[in-house]
Amino acid sequence: MKYITIAALAGTAVLFAGVASAQQGVDFSKVEIKATDLGNKTYMLEGQGGDITVAVGTDGIIMVDTQFAPLHDKIKDAIAKISPLPIKYVVNTHYHGDHVGGNAAFHKDGATIVAHDNVRIRLAAGTTNAVTGNKTPPVEPTALPTESYMVGDKKLEVGGRVAVLKHVYTAHTDGDTWVMFPDANVLVTGDVYGSRTYPNLDWGSGGTIDGMILALETFLKAANDTTKIVPGHGPVATKANLQEFHDMMVTARDRVKKLYDAGKTEQEVLAADPLADLNVKWAAPQGITSGPSFLRNVYNSLRNHD
Ligand SMILES: [Zn+2]
Ligand SMILES: [Zn+2]
Repeated sequence: MKYITIAALAGTAVLFAGVASAQQGVDFSKVEIKATDLGNKTYMLEGQGGDITVAVGTDGIIMVDTQFAPLHDKIKDAIAKISPLPIKYVVNTHYHGDHVGGNAAFHKDGATIVAHDNVRIRLAAGTTNAVTGNKTPPVEPTALPTESYMVGDKKLEVGGRVAVLKHVYTAHTDGDTWVMFPDANVLVTGDVYGSRTYPNLDWGSGGTIDGMILALETFLKAANDTTKIVPGHGPVATKANLQEFHDMMVTARDRVKKLYDAGKTEQEVLAADPLADLNVKWAAPQGITSGPSFLRNVYNSLRNHD
């Protein structure tokens, strides 16, 4: 268990402003919310930002992640088309703005916001970008998780539907929660897994490449061949997709670690371009999940936690 303190946060660097700034050019009025039926009254919603999962019980709804604040009304409308029941719980998989932006509005609608306690601490304290130094101010108090946990599992229930929340240590961040809906065989990974590109690896907020790989191994153990996996970003995936991503991460870690252990600097590792073949499939054209960004994140995660 790693409990962060406000003092630790002051010296902490955070990478998610890259995600936030990537959204600055977005016209939210043009975003459409697309729902995918995962079976057993469980749905995945895509719009702009992290994937959302919705599970409908007999007396309410559990929702995982909330995308950006300006999308609240559209997301609410899309959920109302699925069920007229109230959203009782909102779970945050981690603190990044593309997953928690709608917290305040859904809280105002009556939802209890649930997350790992490090999410609450980071949102309350505000954060600083590791690369640019850009500061993100503390969120308004009504956007904070109202129910948080530190260790073990946490179960939420809405009329017969159960969500099992579990924390994985120092993976994408230090406050990651993944969620299982056992009766639908749906596994929600948060940003530990993206089904299209390299992941962001927020080493400035306690994320590590080794922690991500361990988390992926935990997911692989929890999944079977019919599990529907909701990634942090990208379309619904299978266990086979997750296995491929895991193997890529292990290859990336091993190659970068070899260079790091040989004493190479970040610039030397960038010049060596050790992930060139992986970039073909996994690198985004630009931004935080591009080839160079991912390489820098893996390197810095090794350096940060040596
Ligand atoms: Zn995200
Ligand atoms: Zn994230």
